[in-house]
Amino acid sequence: MKNILIAGGAGFIGSHLCSTLIARGDNVVALDNFFTGKRENIEPLKESGRFSLIEHDITIPFTFEAANGAYFDEIYNLACPASPAHYQPDPVRTMMVNILGMKNLLDLAKAHNAKILQTSTSEVYGNPQVHPQPETYLGNVNTIGPRACYDEGKRAAETLCFDYHRQYKTNIKIVRIFNTYGPQMRKDDGRVISNFICQALAGEPVTIYGDGSQTRSFCYIDDMVAGIIAMMESKEGITGPVNLGNPDEFTIEEIAEKILEKTGSKSPLAYKPLPQDDPMQRQPDISLAGQLLGWQPKISLDRGLDKAIAYFTKALR
Ligand code: UDP
Repeated sequence: MKNILIAGGAGFIGSHLCSTLIARGDNVVALDNFFTGKRENIEPLKESGRFSLIEHDITIPFTFEAANGAYFDEIYNLACPASPAHYQPDPVRTMMVNILGMKNLLDLAKAHNAKILQTSTSEVYGNPQVHPQPETYLGNVNTIGPRACYDEGKRAAETLCFDYHRQYKTNIKIVRIFNTYGPQMRKDDGRVISNFICQALAGEPVTIYGDGSQTRSFCYIDDMVAGIIAMMESKEGITGPVNLGNPDEFTIEEIAEKILEKTGSKSPLAYKPLPQDDPMQRQPDISLAGQLLGWQPKISLDRGLDKAIAYFTKALR
Protein backbone atom coordinates (compact mmCIF):
# COMPACT_ATOMS: atom_id res chain seq x y z
CA MET A 1 0.00 0.00 0.00
CA LYS A 2 1.41 3.36 -1.04
CA ASN A 3 0.59 6.96 -0.19
CA ILE A 4 -0.01 8.68 -3.47
CA LEU A 5 -0.64 12.33 -4.30
CA ILE A 6 -2.48 13.13 -7.52
CA ALA A 7 -2.44 16.76 -8.57
CA GLY A 8 -5.45 17.36 -10.80
CA GLY A 9 -7.15 14.36 -9.21
CA ALA A 10 -10.68 15.60 -9.95
CA GLY A 11 -10.05 16.03 -13.66
CA PHE A 12 -10.82 13.64 -16.49
CA ILE A 13 -7.65 11.52 -16.46
CA GLY A 14 -6.80 12.30 -12.82
CA SER A 15 -10.09 10.95 -11.45
CA HIS A 16 -9.77 7.70 -13.42
CA LEU A 17 -6.23 7.33 -12.08
CA CYS A 18 -7.46 7.94 -8.50
CA SER A 19 -10.11 5.24 -8.78
CA THR A 20 -7.72 2.66 -10.27
CA LEU A 21 -5.11 3.24 -7.54
CA ILE A 22 -7.73 3.13 -4.78
CA ALA A 23 -9.16 -0.09 -6.20
CA ARG A 24 -5.76 -1.77 -5.94
CA GLY A 25 -5.46 -0.71 -2.28
CA ASP A 26 -3.41 2.50 -2.24
CA ASN A 27 -4.13 5.63 -0.22
CA VAL A 28 -4.81 8.56 -2.52
CA VAL A 29 -4.82 12.28 -1.81
CA ALA A 30 -6.14 14.38 -4.69
CA LEU A 31 -5.23 18.04 -5.10
CA ASP A 32 -7.53 20.11 -7.28
CA ASN A 33 -8.61 23.72 -7.59
CA PHE A 34 -11.68 22.73 -9.65
CA PHE A 35 -10.76 24.99 -12.55
CA THR A 36 -11.74 22.15 -14.90
CA GLY A 37 -11.98 19.26 -12.42
CA LYS A 38 -15.44 18.13 -11.28
CA ARG A 39 -16.60 17.21 -7.78
CA GLU A 40 -18.87 14.48 -9.12
CA ASN A 41 -15.81 12.72 -10.61
CA ILE A 42 -14.40 12.07 -7.16
CA GLU A 43 -17.54 11.91 -4.99
CA PRO A 44 -17.86 8.09 -5.29
CA LEU A 45 -14.20 7.61 -4.25
CA LYS A 46 -14.82 8.90 -0.73
CA GLU A 47 -16.65 5.67 0.23
CA SER A 48 -13.38 3.72 -0.04
CA GLY A 49 -11.98 5.33 3.11
CA ARG A 50 -8.65 5.58 1.30
CA PHE A 51 -9.32 8.81 -0.54
CA SER A 52 -9.11 12.42 0.48
CA LEU A 53 -9.34 15.68 -1.37
CA ILE A 54 -7.41 18.85 -0.66
CA GLU A 55 -8.60 21.92 -2.52
CA HIS A 56 -5.36 23.47 -3.64
CA ASP A 57 -3.89 25.41 -6.54
CA ILE A 58 -0.48 24.00 -7.45
CA THR A 59 0.91 27.42 -8.33
CA ILE A 60 1.06 27.83 -4.54
CA PRO A 61 3.71 25.69 -2.77
CA PHE A 62 2.31 22.60 -1.06
CA THR A 63 3.96 21.59 2.19
CA PHE A 64 4.17 18.68 4.60
CA GLU A 65 1.81 20.55 6.96
CA ALA A 66 -0.66 21.18 4.15
CA ALA A 67 -0.58 17.43 3.47
CA ASN A 68 -1.80 16.91 7.06
CA GLY A 69 1.54 15.39 7.95
CA ALA A 70 1.36 12.67 5.30
CA TYR A 71 4.43 11.42 3.48
CA PHE A 72 4.00 10.55 -0.15
CA ASP A 73 5.69 7.66 -1.95
CA GLU A 74 4.54 8.80 -5.37
CA ILE A 75 3.28 12.03 -6.92
CA TYR A 76 1.43 12.21 -10.23
CA ASN A 77 0.98 15.59 -11.90
CA LEU A 78 -2.17 15.88 -14.00
CA ALA A 79 -2.99 19.43 -12.99
CA CYS A 80 -3.44 21.59 -16.07
CA PRO A 81 -6.43 22.42 -18.25
CA ALA A 82 -5.79 20.42 -21.44
CA SER A 83 -8.40 21.67 -23.89
CA PRO A 84 -7.64 24.81 -25.94
CA ALA A 85 -11.09 26.10 -24.94
CA HIS A 86 -9.98 26.05 -21.28
CA TYR A 87 -6.26 26.79 -21.44
CA GLN A 88 -6.37 29.68 -23.94
CA PRO A 89 -8.65 32.25 -22.20
CA ASP A 90 -6.02 32.80 -19.45
CA PRO A 91 -2.71 31.87 -21.11
CA VAL A 92 -0.53 33.48 -18.44
CA ARG A 93 -2.15 31.27 -15.84
CA THR A 94 -1.68 28.21 -18.05
CA MET A 95 2.06 28.90 -18.28
CA MET A 96 2.27 29.36 -14.52
CA VAL A 97 0.34 26.16 -13.77
CA ASN A 98 2.76 24.28 -15.97
CA ILE A 99 5.98 25.87 -14.77
CA LEU A 100 5.42 27.12 -11.22
CA GLY A 101 3.08 24.22 -10.51
CA MET A 102 5.70 21.76 -11.73
CA LYS A 103 8.40 23.41 -9.61
CA ASN A 104 6.20 23.26 -6.50
CA LEU A 105 5.46 19.57 -7.04
CA LEU A 106 9.14 18.80 -7.74
CA ASP A 107 10.03 20.55 -4.46
CA LEU A 108 7.45 18.39 -2.72
CA ALA A 109 8.87 15.23 -4.33
CA LYS A 110 12.35 16.28 -3.21
CA ALA A 111 11.18 16.90 0.37
CA HIS A 112 9.31 13.59 0.52
CA ASN A 113 11.92 11.64 -1.44
CA ALA A 114 8.99 10.60 -3.64
CA LYS A 115 8.90 9.46 -7.24
CA ILE A 116 7.20 12.03 -9.45
CA LEU A 117 5.46 11.43 -12.75
CA GLN A 118 4.75 14.32 -15.07
CA THR A 119 2.02 14.00 -17.68
CA SER A 120 3.46 15.85 -20.62
CA THR A 121 1.80 15.97 -24.00
CA SER A 122 1.99 15.28 -27.71
CA GLU A 123 1.68 19.07 -28.02
CA VAL A 124 5.43 19.25 -27.37
CA TYR A 125 5.76 18.11 -31.01
CA GLY A 126 3.69 21.10 -32.20
CA ASN A 127 2.68 20.80 -35.87
CA PRO A 128 4.98 17.84 -36.51
CA GLN A 129 7.14 17.51 -39.60
CA VAL A 130 8.00 13.91 -38.66
CA HIS A 131 5.24 11.30 -38.77
CA PRO A 132 4.52 9.30 -36.64
CA GLN A 133 6.22 11.11 -33.78
CA PRO A 134 8.95 9.28 -31.83
CA GLU A 135 10.22 10.70 -28.53
CA THR A 136 13.48 11.72 -30.26
CA TYR A 137 11.64 14.21 -32.50
CA LEU A 138 12.30 17.67 -31.08
CA GLY A 139 9.09 19.19 -32.35
CA ASN A 140 7.85 22.18 -34.30
CA VAL A 141 6.15 24.56 -31.88
CA ASN A 142 5.28 28.19 -32.60
CA THR A 143 6.62 29.83 -29.44
CA ILE A 144 4.44 32.93 -29.80
CA GLY A 145 1.11 31.47 -30.93
CA PRO A 146 -2.09 30.98 -28.92
CA ARG A 147 -1.26 27.31 -28.17
CA ALA A 148 2.23 28.16 -26.90
CA CYS A 149 1.14 28.72 -23.29
CA TYR A 150 0.26 25.03 -23.13
CA ASP A 151 2.89 23.60 -25.49
CA GLU A 152 5.82 25.64 -24.21
CA GLY A 153 4.58 25.37 -20.63
CA LYS A 154 4.64 21.57 -20.92
CA ARG A 155 8.04 21.67 -22.65
CA ALA A 156 9.48 23.82 -19.85
CA ALA A 157 7.95 21.45 -17.27
CA GLU A 158 9.85 18.56 -18.89
CA THR A 159 13.01 20.66 -18.69
CA LEU A 160 12.43 21.36 -15.00
CA CYS A 161 11.93 17.65 -14.31
CA PHE A 162 15.25 16.83 -15.96
CA ASP A 163 17.00 19.72 -14.18
CA TYR A 164 15.76 18.42 -10.80
CA HIS A 165 16.82 14.92 -11.81
CA ARG A 166 20.35 16.02 -12.71
CA GLN A 167 20.76 18.61 -9.95
CA TYR A 168 19.01 16.87 -7.02
CA LYS A 169 18.70 13.25 -8.21
CA THR A 170 14.90 13.54 -8.09
CA ASN A 171 13.31 10.32 -9.33
CA ILE A 172 11.32 11.55 -12.33
CA LYS A 173 9.11 9.85 -14.91
CA ILE A 174 7.67 11.66 -17.92
CA VAL A 175 4.92 10.45 -20.23
CA ARG A 176 3.70 12.32 -23.30
CA ILE A 177 -0.04 11.83 -23.56
CA PHE A 178 -1.69 11.83 -26.99
CA ASN A 179 -5.40 12.58 -27.50
CA THR A 180 -7.43 10.66 -24.92
CA TYR A 181 -11.20 10.36 -24.47
CA GLY A 182 -13.81 8.56 -22.44
CA PRO A 183 -16.32 8.87 -19.60
CA GLN A 184 -15.96 11.77 -17.16
CA MET A 185 -14.86 14.24 -19.82
CA ARG A 186 -16.75 17.48 -19.39
CA LYS A 187 -19.65 18.11 -21.73
CA ASP A 188 -18.10 21.52 -22.37
CA ASP A 189 -14.56 20.13 -22.63
CA GLY A 190 -14.35 21.58 -26.12
CA ARG A 191 -12.29 18.79 -27.64
CA VAL A 192 -13.34 16.93 -30.68
CA ILE A 193 -14.75 13.62 -29.40
CA SER A 194 -16.86 15.10 -26.61
CA ASN A 195 -18.00 17.96 -28.86
CA PHE A 196 -19.04 15.65 -31.69
CA ILE A 197 -20.84 13.17 -29.42
CA CYS A 198 -22.72 15.89 -27.52
CA GLN A 199 -23.63 17.71 -30.76
CA ALA A 200 -24.78 14.47 -32.43
CA LEU A 201 -26.88 13.44 -29.43
CA ALA A 202 -28.50 16.89 -29.23
CA GLY A 203 -29.20 16.98 -32.99
CA GLU A 204 -27.02 20.11 -33.29
CA PRO A 205 -24.57 20.77 -36.14
CA VAL A 206 -21.30 18.83 -35.80
CA THR A 207 -18.56 21.48 -35.95
CA ILE A 208 -15.63 20.50 -38.14
CA TYR A 209 -12.74 22.97 -37.90
CA GLY A 210 -11.02 23.48 -41.25
CA ASP A 211 -11.77 20.91 -43.97
CA GLY A 212 -11.58 17.97 -41.56
CA SER A 213 -8.54 16.43 -43.28
CA GLN A 214 -6.32 16.95 -40.22
CA THR A 215 -5.62 13.74 -38.30
CA ARG A 216 -5.49 12.61 -34.69
CA SER A 217 -5.04 9.24 -32.98
CA PHE A 218 -7.36 8.62 -30.03
CA CYS A 219 -6.67 6.56 -26.93
CA TYR A 220 -9.39 5.26 -24.62
CA ILE A 221 -9.02 6.38 -21.00
CA ASP A 222 -8.55 2.90 -19.46
CA ASP A 223 -5.59 2.18 -21.74
CA MET A 224 -4.09 5.56 -20.90
CA VAL A 225 -4.39 5.04 -17.14
CA ALA A 226 -2.74 1.61 -17.45
CA GLY A 227 0.16 3.19 -19.35
CA ILE A 228 0.61 5.99 -16.82
CA ILE A 229 0.73 3.52 -13.91
CA ALA A 230 3.12 1.23 -15.82
CA MET A 231 5.46 4.19 -16.28
CA MET A 232 5.34 5.11 -12.58
CA GLU A 233 6.23 1.50 -11.79
CA SER A 234 9.00 1.21 -14.38
CA LYS A 235 12.54 0.39 -13.25
CA GLU A 236 14.58 3.08 -11.54
CA GLY A 237 16.52 5.07 -14.11
CA ILE A 238 13.72 4.99 -16.67
CA THR A 239 12.84 8.67 -16.86
CA GLY A 240 11.18 8.89 -20.25
CA PRO A 241 9.84 10.84 -21.95
CA VAL A 242 7.70 7.98 -23.20
CA ASN A 243 4.81 8.45 -25.65
CA LEU A 244 1.43 7.04 -24.58
CA GLY A 245 -1.40 6.94 -27.09
CA ASN A 246 -3.24 4.79 -29.57
CA PRO A 247 -1.55 4.83 -33.00
CA ASP A 248 -4.79 4.24 -34.97
CA GLU A 249 -5.02 7.48 -36.93
CA PHE A 250 -8.20 9.06 -38.34
CA THR A 251 -9.12 12.30 -40.08
CA ILE A 252 -11.48 14.55 -38.14
CA GLU A 253 -14.05 14.09 -40.90
CA GLU A 254 -13.88 10.30 -40.39
CA ILE A 255 -14.46 10.81 -36.66
CA ALA A 256 -17.55 12.93 -37.38
CA GLU A 257 -18.96 10.30 -39.75
CA LYS A 258 -18.30 7.48 -37.27
CA ILE A 259 -20.04 9.34 -34.44
CA LEU A 260 -23.03 10.28 -36.59
CA GLU A 261 -23.39 6.66 -37.65
CA LYS A 262 -23.05 5.27 -34.12
CA THR A 263 -25.52 7.72 -32.61
CA GLY A 264 -27.93 7.47 -35.55
CA SER A 265 -27.96 11.28 -35.54
CA LYS A 266 -29.23 13.44 -38.39
CA SER A 267 -27.03 16.38 -37.33
CA PRO A 268 -25.59 18.27 -40.29
CA LEU A 269 -21.84 18.93 -40.60
CA ALA A 270 -20.87 22.59 -40.02
CA TYR A 271 -17.45 23.65 -41.28
CA LYS A 272 -15.76 26.34 -39.13
CA PRO A 273 -12.38 28.07 -39.45
CA LEU A 274 -9.34 26.03 -38.42
CA PRO A 275 -7.88 27.45 -35.19
CA GLN A 276 -4.41 29.00 -35.46
CA ASP A 277 -1.50 26.53 -35.09
CA ASP A 278 -3.86 23.55 -35.08
CA PRO A 279 -1.55 20.58 -35.88
CA MET A 280 -2.35 18.95 -39.26
CA GLN A 281 -1.37 15.43 -38.25
CA ARG A 282 -0.61 13.48 -35.11
CA GLN A 283 0.17 9.84 -34.46
CA PRO A 284 2.27 8.44 -31.66
CA ASP A 285 5.18 6.11 -32.23
CA ILE A 286 4.68 3.87 -29.20
CA SER A 287 7.55 1.44 -29.73
CA LEU A 288 9.42 2.80 -26.69
CA ALA A 289 6.40 2.25 -24.41
CA GLY A 290 6.24 -1.33 -25.72
CA GLN A 291 9.93 -1.97 -25.08
CA LEU A 292 10.23 -0.28 -21.67
CA LEU A 293 6.79 -0.85 -20.17
CA GLY A 294 5.38 -3.77 -22.14
CA TRP A 295 2.40 -1.46 -22.73
CA GLN A 296 0.14 -1.05 -25.69
CA PRO A 297 -3.46 0.08 -25.98
CA LYS A 298 -6.11 -2.64 -26.22
CA ILE A 299 -9.36 -0.75 -26.83
CA SER A 300 -10.24 0.10 -30.44
CA LEU A 301 -11.80 3.44 -31.34
CA ASP A 302 -15.05 1.64 -32.15
CA ARG A 303 -15.30 0.05 -28.70
CA GLY A 304 -14.15 3.18 -26.93
CA LEU A 305 -16.60 5.40 -28.79
CA ASP A 306 -19.48 3.09 -27.83
CA LYS A 307 -18.53 3.49 -24.16
CA ALA A 308 -18.10 7.27 -24.48
CA ILE A 309 -21.45 7.61 -26.28
CA ALA A 310 -23.14 5.57 -23.52
CA TYR A 311 -21.63 7.90 -20.91
CA PHE A 312 -22.66 11.12 -22.64
CA THR A 313 -26.14 9.78 -23.39
CA LYS A 314 -26.66 9.48 -19.60
CA ALA A 315 -24.82 12.68 -18.73
CA LEU A 316 -26.92 14.77 -21.14
CA ARG A 317 -30.24 13.55 -19.72
N1 UDP B 1 -11.90 19.92 -33.79
C1 UDP B 1 -13.00 20.03 -34.63
N2 UDP B 1 -14.21 20.33 -34.07
C2 UDP B 1 -14.39 20.50 -32.74
C3 UDP B 1 -13.28 20.37 -31.87
C4 UDP B 1 -12.05 20.09 -32.45
O1 UDP B 1 -12.89 19.88 -35.86
O2 UDP B 1 -15.54 20.76 -32.33
C5 UDP B 1 -10.60 19.58 -34.39
C6 UDP B 1 -9.46 20.49 -33.95
O3 UDP B 1 -9.37 21.62 -34.79
C7 UDP B 1 -8.27 19.55 -34.11
C8 UDP B 1 -8.84 18.18 -33.79
O4 UDP B 1 -10.25 18.29 -33.94
O5 UDP B 1 -7.80 19.55 -35.43
C9 UDP B 1 -8.53 17.74 -32.37
O6 UDP B 1 -8.85 18.80 -31.52
P1 UDP B 1 -8.91 18.65 -29.96
O7 UDP B 1 -9.17 20.02 -29.40
O8 UDP B 1 -9.81 17.54 -29.60
O9 UDP B 1 -7.46 18.16 -29.57
P2 UDP B 1 -6.00 18.75 -29.91
O10 UDP B 1 -6.14 19.85 -30.92
O11 UDP B 1 -5.49 19.23 -28.61
O12 UDP B 1 -5.29 17.60 -30.48
